[in-house]
Amino acid sequence: MTDRASTPVSDSAARSAKSTNRAFSAFAVTLLIAGVTCAGMVAAWLPDRDDQSLFWVGPLLVIGFLLAEQLAINVDVRSGVAWTISFTEIPLVLGLLIAPFEVVLAAHVVAGVGTLLGRRILDRAVYNAGLMFMEISVAFAVAESVKRFSLAHGGPLWAGAFVGTITVPLLASVLGLCALRLMGKSMRVGNSVRLVLQTLVVALLNTSAGLVGHQIAKNTEWGGVLILLVFAGIIATYLAYSALLREQRDLEALSEVSLRVARSGQHSAAPRQSDDDAGAGAEEDEWQLIAERIREQLNANRVVLRLRTDPQEAMITLVAGEPLPADMRNVDPRVVREDPILQLPGTHVRYYRIADATEDVSEALMRRDAQEALVVPLRGATQLLGAVEAHDRLSRWRGFGKADIQLLRTLASHLATAVDNRRLLARLRHDAYHDPLTGLLNRPGFREACAEPLRLSEKAVVIRIDLDVLSTVSDALGQVWGNRMVVAAGRRLRDALGPDVPLARLEGGAFAAFLDDNRAAQAQEMAERLRAGLSVPYPVDRLTVEAHAVVGYASKVDCEVEDPDPDALLQRADVAVRATSENDPVRAYAPSMGQIFLRRFQLVTQFRQALETGQVSVHYQPKVALPSRQVVGAEALVRWKHPEFGRVDPDEFVPAVEATGLVDVLTDFVMDRALERVRRWLDRGLRMSIAVNLSVRTLADEDFPNRVADALARHDVPSGLLTFELTESGVMADPERALPVLRRLHAIGVVLAVDDFGTGYSSLAYLRQLPVDEVKIDKSFVLGMGTDLGDMAVVRSIVELGHSLGLTVVAEGVEDDAARDQLVGMGCDIAQGYLISRPLSEDRFEAWLRARTVQVRGARDETVLTLVH
Ligand code: C2E
Ligand code: CA
Ligand code: CA
Repeated sequence: MTDRASTPVSDSAARSAKSTNRAFSAFAVTLLIAGVTCAGMVAAWLPDRDDQSLFWVGPLLVIGFLLAEQLAINVDVRSGVAWTISFTEIPLVLGLLIAPFEVVLAAHVVAGVGTLLGRRILDRAVYNAGLMFMEISVAFAVAESVKRFSLAHGGPLWAGAFVGTITVPLLASVLGLCALRLMGKSMRVGNSVRLVLQTLVVALLNTSAGLVGHQIAKNTEWGGVLILLVFAGIIATYLAYSALLREQRDLEALSEVSLRVARSGQHSAAPRQSDDDAGAGAEEDEWQLIAERIREQLNANRVVLRLRTDPQEAMITLVAGEPLPADMRNVDPRVVREDPILQLPGTHVRYYRIADATEDVSEALMRRDAQEALVVPLRGATQLLGAVEAHDRLSRWRGFGKADIQLLRTLASHLATAVDNRRLLARLRHDAYHDPLTGLLNRPGFREACAEPLRLSEKAVVIRIDLDVLSTVSDALGQVWGNRMVVAAGRRLRDALGPDVPLARLEGGAFAAFLDDNRAAQAQEMAERLRAGLSVPYPVDRLTVEAHAVVGYASKVDCEVEDPDPDALLQRADVAVRATSENDPVRAYAPSMGQIFLRRFQLVTQFRQALETGQVSVHYQPKVALPSRQVVGAEALVRWKHPEFGRVDPDEFVPAVEATGLVDVLTDFVMDRALERVRRWLDRGLRMSIAVNLSVRTLADEDFPNRVADALARHDVPSGLLTFELTESGVMADPERALPVLRRLHAIGVVLAVDDFGTGYSSLAYLRQLPVDEVKIDKSFVLGMGTDLGDMAVVRSIVELGHSLGLTVVAEGVEDDAARDQLVGMGCDIAQGYLISRPLSEDRFEAWLRARTVQVRGARDETVLTLVH
């Protein structure tokens, strides 16, 4: 037979009983009165039995009823429909056969109400007591009637007990369904019928077993022992089977919950400019379902899931089953933190019962309107993620048990791991699309955020804003101040644009914003506003840094390609930025500007091929010692003779090549040519060095020193004859990465020179820490020396500073005799410039050497070349 209180009918009945308390109480009291009245009538009507000898029957029946209820097992018929099989019919049918009405009634009530009282489940006692009175009375009445009928018609003696017993579960099901109806809930007819049929099948089996047992016990010698043995076997099998069933159901629940958590993570997809609620709502629905599933599995009256899925956000609380009392619903997080049953060190499950709890715990339970609670923390790898509470097991007899605790523990650990993973994933996703410094989108994030709106728009605009003072600030004051400026600039842009406009920091001091069709008309105005906003001085520490910005923007309308992606517009905005000037700091992209873009594009894509087909060559510009005029070496300068564009300046194509990562190929090419040249000179007995320019990128390449060592070995050139020129800003761009490479180059023995010295806010102090041997004064100062006293002072102080640090000082851009003479006067070591020679191709450089220099014996008897007057 089915245990009435935990069939779905009475489960829901019991659950709704709490919410519609009054209706249920009325029903329960009515039931009790009806039950007691019936019992009285039946007792009066039944004939007396004369089996006083069976004094032990009463206690035995109590034990039988208790056992029958305790051994009940849950069978999951279909997910959501629990079906509890118990053996109550067995003691009942025996009672009907051998015991008086009063004894059976008493045994049933004592066992049932006793269990409830023992577990302090008082609220359902009245309903159950009424039900029991009713059941036993009806059973005896039916049994007696059928017995009389059967005896009169020659039927079997046991027919009465049989039919009487079967009536009980049917009656309970019908009463349960009535209770449901009464409370305004209903079950589908199909379900009700199926339920009643299932109940009937189990009842038939149990009753028959009881009857057979009774027959054997009565008619066989030692039959009682036999029956006991058979029952023990059946019970053992049942227990094993029920454990197995439970395990399987729990596993199913576990995997379902894990799956849901994983799925809930997918609601937060691509980067969101501002977190909208659509994703969050769907996510909460998933959590609600998860709470629902846990409640169902634990057969609890209510499950409360408290969760912090996003470290930044507040804890969410989801309730499955009976709603929390109003004053517990939206409580202050502080109250939650101080709640005695939510103090959860460790990871284990705690079980609280109002009956044996401390005062504050029982008060906490009362506030939840719960008799008992299982509570478990959700603990992630690093922090507390939340907690699960399960309140009041829905059963007539049992509270939460060991299996429930174990299930909840495993569920909680699955849940915590899943939430942890989800958070990690969200974090990774966020990091992938955001700039860590400003918190704005990064380039991929911008791409992602604009792609769809751009596709749907007609005239959307991408604005690019470049804050140009940045590298200077970083150089002069250090990275930290540069970063602060970027952050401040980002904030100004966000304020000017409002929260809904996608805004990204692309790199350094470069930002981009996306204006949709509605805002596109104000692009020019907006661009000017942004530029003005960024050009207001920045208070940095106690200084005020003047900065100015340039802005370029490109509209979808002006884009030559159809359906441009965000990158296409970004590139065009970039082209527009490049077309800005001091008088014209805001420019809109025009297709004619595309020519520049196209040319750059061609340069980049054709560079490798140009190397292979001999379009790229190396020119040499001599360096001469002062005042001896000895030619100490040359600087290698790359040249590109493009078939279409003619001669392309390195100032144009080197940055382009750098941007595409091909610069290694360029450096290796120039270094190889240069070393070949040095080798030729050595073969002729000339010791002259060659300087090769390095780009920032090369300094970040850990493998570069190895390639240098290889090249030196291949050409058999002493490392002291190779100089690398690097710009200050190149080193400062990423000193952490550049320094180790520089140290290794220095260890190989190559000479390191700081190029264009004086153009950055040269941090002189830094120079001391770099492993350099040479400074090259920037040509702008040398060129200006003749007319500008300031330049002259700069040159003089660099010479002095360089010497005080033990460095060789080189002046480039020496165009006239006056400059050379001044440099000699200051004690500058080496000069380079048009006065001596322009950069020359290999052949012409050799010719120049022959024509303009003479061989003399050096101090150590080596051959040196000296410039003739
Ligand atoms: P840089 O390293 O400062 O090279 C010196 C530049 O000044 C050369 O320009 C040279 O032709 C020019 N110059 C030399 N003497 C004088 C003079 O008396 N007056 C004036 N007004 N200019 C003079 P170039 O060859 O156009 O190179 C420009 C820049 O391109 C170089 O500046 C260097 O930064 C870069 N570059 C050139 N070759 C390479 C290379 O192989 N690799 C890398 N990474 N960069 C290179
Ligand atoms: Ca140089
Ligand atoms: Ca230079």
